[in-house]
Amino acid sequence: MKRILITGAAGFIGSNLTKRLLEEGNFVIGLDNFYTGQKANIENFLNNENYKFIEHNVIEPYEIKVDEIYNLACPASPVHYQKNPLFTFKTSVFGIINALELSRKTGARLLQASTSEVYGDAKVYPQHEKYFGNVNPNGVRACYDEGKRAAETLICDYRRVYGLNTKIARIFNTYGENMDIKDGRVVSNFITQALRGENITIYGDGNQSRSFCYISDLLEGLILLMKSDITEPVNLGNPDEFKINDFAHYILNLTKSPSKCIYMPLPSDDPHKRKPDISYAKTKLGFMPKVKIEDGVKKTIEYFRTRIEKP
Ligand code: NAD
Ligand code: UDP
Repeated sequence: MKRILITGAAGFIGSNLTKRLLEEGNFVIGLDNFYTGQKANIENFLNNENYKFIEHNVIEPYEIKVDEIYNLACPASPVHYQKNPLFTFKTSVFGIINALELSRKTGARLLQASTSEVYGDAKVYPQHEKYFGNVNPNGVRACYDEGKRAAETLICDYRRVYGLNTKIARIFNTYGENMDIKDGRVVSNFITQALRGENITIYGDGNQSRSFCYISDLLEGLILLMKSDITEPVNLGNPDEFKINDFAHYILNLTKSPSKCIYMPLPSDDPHKRKPDISYAKTKLGFMPKVKIEDGVKKTIEYFRTRIEKP
């Protein structure tokens, strides 16, 4: 039985990953400080004898005997990561240093949740791993983008200096059950607004695009990557691309909602076109997203319906 540490375990991806790794027969240690994570996301695991939860801020060092580390702790929604940018940057940088130190002491494999945001407002389309990105180092998104880029630098230097077994997953927009109602990202906002009959808030002209991956497909990619011997960064996502305007109407149709779209200012440095090139993950990992957007979004709508009725 492997002992697997997940930092950010009470969050959206962390709680889904916990469920999956417990189902596969592992012992899971969840670590989180509930900055954006929800107690409700871990409640079902607390009585499981193969689960242990530790409330801890990853900015501070920690010591646990483990075989694998998934380092997911970091606010991920622009609303949350911009609320306290210094905390966000410190979480990425000190958080990865503490995870790398743990890997150095225990010999554990380490997988970092990096992000498509390392490509910034990309000038290459679709975005492939060899592209170095177009990030504004002084802008309001930099606490997140540059924090994640610095974390990648630290991982590669620790690997070169100490020979650690590290993985970097560049995750593109992922959605599904256990996203927080107040998360502020586009999928949760549009679905909850549509279900409540509130205005759908489109930022800018809505011509910017994102490509959406359902959570189970992302988990498959993360686990395949952890098992692999790849050390280079790997894009994980679904190339199924939507303009934000079209996505709003897609949600309105599926929810049969009477909500109207309203247009609000575009946040600064908001990337224009985002679509992952996943050919590297396909070839090297056999990664292939399976869940059609309609099926994934319908499940997510049902999840938010229950959350709105029983918050
Ligand atoms: P989330 O906000 O739901 O989860 C993040 C979790 O980390 C929360 O439970 C939060 O409480 C915890 N956390 C934050 N700072 C912490 C700290 N200092 N100490 C301990 N715990 C802390 O976000 P998510 O969507 O589940 O994202 C998980 C990871 O995946 C993040 O690192 C994020 O950058 C990355 N990622 C997510 C996406 C996506 O589309 N969901 C895309 C790219 C990258
Ligand atoms: N967005 C929007 N309305 C919302 C939330 C987000 O139009 O209520 C837009 C946002 O400006 C961006 C896209 O949707 O262009 C994706 O935003 P999100 O916060 O989900 O993730 P990002 O990829 O920007 O980190």
